[in-house]
Amino acid sequence: MKEQFLKSLWSPPDPVLASAGMAGEVLVAKVRLGLASVLLLIPLINVLFFPINLKEVIVGVSLTVGTFLFSALIYWSLARQFNPSWLSFATSGFDVTLVSAGLILFLVMNEPHTAVNSKVVFEGYFLAIAASSIRYDTRVSIITGLLSLGEYMAIVLFTALHWDLNSPAYAPYEYGVFNWSAQISRFIILLIASALGVALVARSQRLLQLATRDPVTGLFNRAYVDDRFEVELTRAKRYGNALTIAIIDADHFKQLNDAHGHLAGDIVLKRLGELLNKSFRQSDIAGRYGGEEFMILLPDANMNVAVQRLEHLRRLVEKTPILVPSAEHQVQVTFSAGLASFPQDGNRAAKLFAVADERMFDAKRSGRNRIVTGTTEISVSQNLQVPEPSGVGDHPNRLMKGRRDD
Ligand code: GH3
Ligand code: MG
Ligand code: MG
Repeated sequence: MKEQFLKSLWSPPDPVLASAGMAGEVLVAKVRLGLASVLLLIPLINVLFFPINLKEVIVGVSLTVGTFLFSALIYWSLARQFNPSWLSFATSGFDVTLVSAGLILFLVMNEPHTAVNSKVVFEGYFLAIAASSIRYDTRVSIITGLLSLGEYMAIVLFTALHWDLNSPAYAPYEYGVFNWSAQISRFIILLIASALGVALVARSQRLLQLATRDPVTGLFNRAYVDDRFEVELTRAKRYGNALTIAIIDADHFKQLNDAHGHLAGDIVLKRLGELLNKSFRQSDIAGRYGGEEFMILLPDANMNVAVQRLEHLRRLVEKTPILVPSAEHQVQVTFSAGLASFPQDGNRAAKLFAVADERMFDAKRSGRNRIVTGTTEISVSQNLQVPEPSGVGDHPNRLMKGRRDD
């Protein structure tokens, strides 16, 4: 249990959260660039209005220009969709180190009390920790917290060892006298702020998990699958990968309900959910889209690969009898599925969905228990224990589905 908890803290975020985190990264990049532009003015004001100390000017200018250039580079990279998995670690580390560099600047200017008792720059660590939380990655929050603590402790230790901080030469101690108890309080507060940041992100991940599951089947729910579809499509476009979507609809489910009751129907749906879950890779996303309809996203799978996996599922479902308490015998269920692939069937989520949905209805029209891909149709014998209804071709769902293109 404890091990699992620690493992969950050190694992990549869910892709939907990661995509929200990316928006957070862009926001932080904008704020950072704005602040860096303002910081550029500080050495300029110093040069214009105060007596020049060459060393201070050189350090000040290098720090502010360096910060500005780095901030601009990050913003430019993000604007060009450059987003490797290590970017949030690097940018959060940069933010923390920038605060430390500000404190070190006071040491360079021989103002050790300002460095260790700073009233403004030290608080920058909290901004960096807060900014790390909106990356929605517990690992980034942990590293940011530990780095803040480590760098600040190193600065305090270095200062305490290299300066005689309680010397009367510093009287009247504009920034207060140095004492360890105040410093230890600062370490603890940094640690608490970091722990809160990690807890907040872990909580968001947990809430997302709770909010994205369908209680009957345990599969993802519609809202999550829709969000994930957009995320996976964007990724497929960026990396030039294929993406296939499958719409699955259980055959004659109403009759199954009518014959055995809704409770039996629910048991069958639950079992279908289990079969779906075990038939696909971890990277595939299986969701319950509504009623007896499911949707599967197959990232990196082209039509050929996807149809093989769906066919495997179709056979598995067809040959798996499901035991329901109220039924005298085990019931067997089948499904019809429609597939659509990016890029050949469209490049928008709504379009791909509509194509797959239409193909699913083609599968219904041409006899059910089959998969329609647009080019291939895999037909199979009907193997239903539930009787065939009348007016099959005139299915009431059809009109409703045709409009579901949002
Ligand atoms: P088709 O092969 O054309 O898809 O026929 P169908 O009977 O499956 O299709 P229809 O749309 O006519 O009926 C779907 C039925 O699914 C209606 C409803 O009784 C049942 N259903 C939808 N959601 C649930 C659910 O959560 N639990 C149960 N037990 N039944 C459900
Ligand atoms: Mg249906
Ligand atoms: Mg159905």
